[in-house]
Amino acid sequence: MEIRYKSTRNSEVTVTASEAILQGLAEDGGLFLPTAVPSIDVAALAGKSYQEIAYEVMRLFFTDYTEEELKGCIAKAYDDKFDAKEIAPLKEAGGICYLELFHGATIAFKDMALSILPHLLTTAAKKQQKKEEIVILTATSGDTGKAALAGFADVPGTSIIVFYPKDGVSKIQEKQMVTQAGDNTNVVAIRGNFDDAQNGVKEIFGDKELAAKAKEQGYRFSSANSINIGRLVPQIVYYVYTYATLLAKGTISAGENIHVAVPTGNFGNILAAYYAKRMGTPLGKLICASNDNKVLYDFFQTGTYDRNREFILTSSPSMDILISSNLERLIYLCAEENSEVNAELMRQLKEQGLYTITEQMKKGLTDFVGGYATEQQTFDTIQRVYEQSGYVIDTHTAVAASVCHQYKKETGDDTFTVVVSTASPYKFTRSVMKALGQETDGVDDFILADRLSEYSGTKIPKAVEEIRNAPVHHTKVCDKEKMREMVSDILNLR
Ligand SMILES: *Cc1c(COP(=O)(O)O)cnc(C)c1O
Repeated sequence: MEIRYKSTRNSEVTVTASEAILQGLAEDGGLFLPTAVPSIDVAALAGKSYQEIAYEVMRLFFTDYTEEELKGCIAKAYDDKFDAKEIAPLKEAGGICYLELFHGATIAFKDMALSILPHLLTTAAKKQQKKEEIVILTATSGDTGKAALAGFADVPGTSIIVFYPKDGVSKIQEKQMVTQAGDNTNVVAIRGNFDDAQNGVKEIFGDKELAAKAKEQGYRFSSANSINIGRLVPQIVYYVYTYATLLAKGTISAGENIHVAVPTGNFGNILAAYYAKRMGTPLGKLICASNDNKVLYDFFQTGTYDRNREFILTSSPSMDILISSNLERLIYLCAEENSEVNAELMRQLKEQGLYTITEQMKKGLTDFVGGYATEQQTFDTIQRVYEQSGYVIDTHTAVAASVCHQYKKETGDDTFTVVVSTASPYKFTRSVMKALGQETDGVDDFILADRLSEYSGTKIPKAVEEIRNAPVHHTKVCDKEKMREMVSDILNLR
């Protein structure tokens, strides 16, 4: 069955998978969604490898890619860049199952999609016979940036420009980005927060004049942000893989529902879980975990999405987000794929900073449970999990573990639950060590990593060792209003 892609703001026009991947965002500002959801027989996949399951899932969505093309992309993405041969290992600790999505090049879950996106993109460009160089523009709250840089560095036919909020990422995250090698990589700090960076990038994408100028000089803009369908689909894979693997291990029996608890920011990861469920993976509740920036929790409680609030910097910075871009896809589905209804709500979000969905639309949210963890709860959870099981989790994972814990306590629901672990504790060492009651004031990040290693008896990941003494390659800083000029400068557009 051929699957095509349509915009959440105009259902009339459809494009192929490779066109949708190449475009990133639809011309009308909407996000691409498949015109149908293919179904999958998860039980038949029990015991298969991550790469095999990746192919079985992706071939159903990317129907204009040949088998050879897709398998080529998968082989280049999920190789020994990952330090675990399972790619996404499942770990049991204290009666909870953790899905570890942090074994890629940058020790956070965005590697799962960003190690394959460059290959999906360059393959798409070839298929569409596009000759321009692909320029990736990305706004990051920390993890996307490095994962995208690592994914695109020195990939022929591409270059990448990453914007990050100057004071909104961890020291290690910043160091990871500014030390990125590769002639085709650019990193810019902006004076503003993540939403400013994201809005700036969206505006550049909407700028037809700039795009025309770029095209004249042989460039074409594209996005690596989590709105690209080429990131969403690879994320469906690990939910299918999780279920198939638990089945093969005998942890669960065929057809049994399991819940997943997902630390959420831009709503990409959990939306992938929703798609896995719609494809037929027996997932029960999709537990959407937020930190103190609990816009999503409030939305699930009230049906009103309201970004008019203070932006809070937390110890889980990759979830410090007030506009969860991927939620638009769910809103569109809740509106029974009525793009006009969705476009109107998104207009209200843009103009007033809020919208309210109808009672009828709320019915589309029944698979989700919203929860949040305060900073204290997050820190307590890191400590509790370590004391109970000797397993160290990072702050983002702890938000989900805390919300999962609260949910089980409040409801008495003892359904088997997988907590999605989105970052290595070595990526947020300072907060993790603080939570574990260790001295951190004035201690260097890398010394802290050494101490965490000693304390927990775990090995420091290669990704951290590599940046310890790496030279800084990127020092650009700009005002949030000057992002367009920065892009022009970097590409030498006249
Ligand atoms: C990006 C990120 C998240 C949030 O994922 P979304 O898909 O944006 O909801 C959670 N944890 C970590 C470590 C991340 O990097």
